[in-house]
Amino acid sequence: MQNRRQLLRTSLGAALAPLASCQHSSQSSGWIDAHVHVWTPDLERYPLAEGFTRQSMQPPSFTPEQLFAHAKPQGVSRIVLIQMSYYRFDNRYMLDMMRRHPGTFSGVAIVDDKAADVEQRMLELARQGVRGFRLVPPADPVAARAWFASPGIETMYRVGAQHRLNMCLLINPEALGEAAAMCRRFPKTPVVIDHFARLGMAGAIEPAGLKALLDLAAFPEVTVKTSATYALGAKKAPYTDLLPMLRACRDAFGAKRLMWASDCPFQVEKGHNYKDSIDLVHERADFLTERERQWLLRDTAQRVFFS
Ligand SMILES: [Zn+2]
Repeated sequence: MQNRRQLLRTSLGAALAPLASCQHSSQSSGWIDAHVHVWTPDLERYPLAEGFTRQSMQPPSFTPEQLFAHAKPQGVSRIVLIQMSYYRFDNRYMLDMMRRHPGTFSGVAIVDDKAADVEQRMLELARQGVRGFRLVPPADPVAARAWFASPGIETMYRVGAQHRLNMCLLINPEALGEAAAMCRRFPKTPVVIDHFARLGMAGAIEPAGLKALLDLAAFPEVTVKTSATYALGAKKAPYTDLLPMLRACRDAFGAKRLMWASDCPFQVEKGHNYKDSIDLVHERADFLTERERQWLLRDTAQRVFFS
């Protein structure tokens, strides 16, 4: 039985609910772009890492406001920010933008895997809303094997499993076998494969590479970003030459383990645009059910990066 106070609280809660959920739902019902980089021309406040100059930044500026101008008209309300290489291990700009736009961004950071306190660094970033860490294994499989076996990377996989933090691999098809070996060793670590494992960067989608990607479906903690359409295959809108690869991924992984992403700003440069990227999933992939489309455009990224 409820006492009067509980009853009051319940009815007050019920009265407030429509307003609260209305505000909440406009953000949570929108699509999620699972991979975007932002940067600022303000190099005083956010200096570039060694080896980078102002000329390295192409385009010279890509702030959240510039991003929203592309994303919001397409119904995208939340975005996963990926730490940009220009800043190397200095994740401050990404973290500041996450703080400035509460509820809009999740984050994937870059940490120094060779640092003795890599675990503490990961947890400190996780406290600030980071949900994954970007890893770039060597392209050569032998080098990739040694790299995956290094103490820092093993620590990161272990911490990832303990705290549900994603290992986000920017990886080429040739090194996928080594990624699979890590999945066998750390089956509880969530792993995200960026950009279809960059299949089709050189033009053709190599069957052996596609098989290596699809083989990762055997590991339940692996998800795949179906992204960077501007860079793969024919590299030309409407990107429909990528649909057989998308369909094969849907068949192997299921839509609940696929995430659409734009890889902005690169998707909005050199004659490409944002709408063509999301339309590949939203309009052109006619083999997807409506529910599958929702997983690709929102619900998988919600689970992986926003929960
Ligand atoms: Zn990217």
